[in-house]
Amino acid sequence: MVEIKFPQNLSVNIQYDSELAPFTTFKLGGKAKGIIRCSTPQQLQNVVDHLIKNISDFIVIGGGSNIVVSDAGVNCFVIRYFSDIPFIERQNDDVVVFGSTKLEDLVSFSVDQGLGDLSFASGIPGTVGGAICGNAGAFGKQISEYLRSVSIITRSGELKEFDAEELCFDYRDSILKRTQDIVLSARFSLLPYDKDILTEQRVKVLGERRKKHPDWKKERCAGSFFKNVDCGFPENKRKSAGCFLDEVGAKDLRVNGAYVFEKHANIIMVDDAGKAQDIFDLSSKMDMLVKEKFDFQLEREVRFVGDFLGKPKEINNVIW
Ligand SMILES: Cc1cc2nc3c(=O)[nH]c(=O)nc-3n(C[C@H](O)[C@H](O)[C@H](O)COP(=O)(O)OP(=O)(O)OC[C@H]3O[C@@H](n4cnc5c(N)ncnc54)[C@H](O)[C@@H]3O)c2cc1C
Repeated sequence: MVEIKFPQNLSVNIQYDSELAPFTTFKLGGKAKGIIRCSTPQQLQNVVDHLIKNISDFIVIGGGSNIVVSDAGVNCFVIRYFSDIPFIERQNDDVVVFGSTKLEDLVSFSVDQGLGDLSFASGIPGTVGGAICGNAGAFGKQISEYLRSVSIITRSGELKEFDAEELCFDYRDSILKRTQDIVLSARFSLLPYDKDILTEQRVKVLGERRKKHPDWKKERCAGSFFKNVDCGFPENKRKSAGCFLDEVGAKDLRVNGAYVFEKHANIIMVDDAGKAQDIFDLSSKMDMLVKEKFDFQLEREVRFVGDFLGKPKEINNVIW
C-alpha cells in the first residue's frame, strides 16, 4: 500500500507499485512501493526532501548494473538517478558531470575533448554516481584516481561537498556504500592528451571487453560477481577471483536458471527461468567451494537488494 503521494510540482516520473526488473541488467526483481525517476540534482534533491519529510524509506539506484534485486521486491521507494541525455561540462581541464550521466557518455566526452585518461572505463555500464559509489575500475585503474570532488546529498537531506580523499576509496569500495549518501554531481581532473591516442586506446579497451564479457544489452548479468583477491602481492596487485573459481570448476555450476558464463568463471548469468534467489544460491555455492579448497572467503562486488533466503540475520539494510 502506497503511503504518500508526490506533488505535481516535483515534475518527476513516478511509477507506483512497480517492478524493478526493467531497471537492472539482470532484468530481475519484484516490486517497489514506487520507482521515482530523476535525472538532475534539483529533481533528486526535491524528491529526497519530500521522502524525508514524509518519513518514507528509500534507496537509490543508477543503471542497475551492479545489483541483484530480490524476487519479493523492496518495501520502500526506489529513486532511479539516471539520464540518457549526458549532463557534462568542461571547465579548463576539469570535467563536471551529473551523477545520473552514463559513465560511457563521460568517457566518450573526455576522449572527444582530448582529455585523459578515462579510456580504461570504456564499456562499463551504469552511471557516474554508481561508478563512484563502487569505485568502478578495469585494467588496473579505478575511477577514484581521476576524481577531484563530489556534491552529495546525505540521507538526512543535507547538501555537502567532499574532496575525493574524503570518500575513503579502496578497491571497488567507498564510504558511500555504508553512508548511502548520494552523488549529485562530480568533478574530474583530467590532463590534455592526444585525441587519436585516446580514441585508439578506447577502441582497444572496447575490443578486449567484447572478447571477455557478455553483451549486457542482450544477456542478463552484472559483470564480475566477486572482487579480485588481495594475496599480498606487491603494488596491491590482486589475483583474479575467476582463477580461484576456475579451479573449483565454477564454470560447470548451475542453480535452476542461474549459471556461470562459459568464458569467465566470475560472471553469473540468468536464463529465462532465472530468479534472483537462484543467483543468491549459486553465488553462495561458488563462495563455499572456494572456501573449502582455499580456506578464504570471496567478497561480493555485486550488491543484493532486499530479502533473500539465507540472508545473514545481522543485515537490516535494503542494499547489502
Ligand atoms: C557486462 C558488465 C560489465 C561490467 N564491467 C565492470 C568493470 O569492468 N568494472 C567495474 O568496476 N564494474 C563493472 N560492472 C559493474 C557495474 O557496471 C559497475 O559497478 C557500475 O559502476 C555500477 O553503476 P550503476 O549506475 O549501474 O549502479 P547500480 O547497480 O544502480 O548501483 C550500485 C550501487 O551504487 C549505488 N549508487 C547508484 N547511483 C548512485 C549515486 N548517484 N550516488 C551514490 N550511490 C549510488 C547504489 O545505491 C548501489 O549501492 C560491469 C557490469 C556489467 C553488466
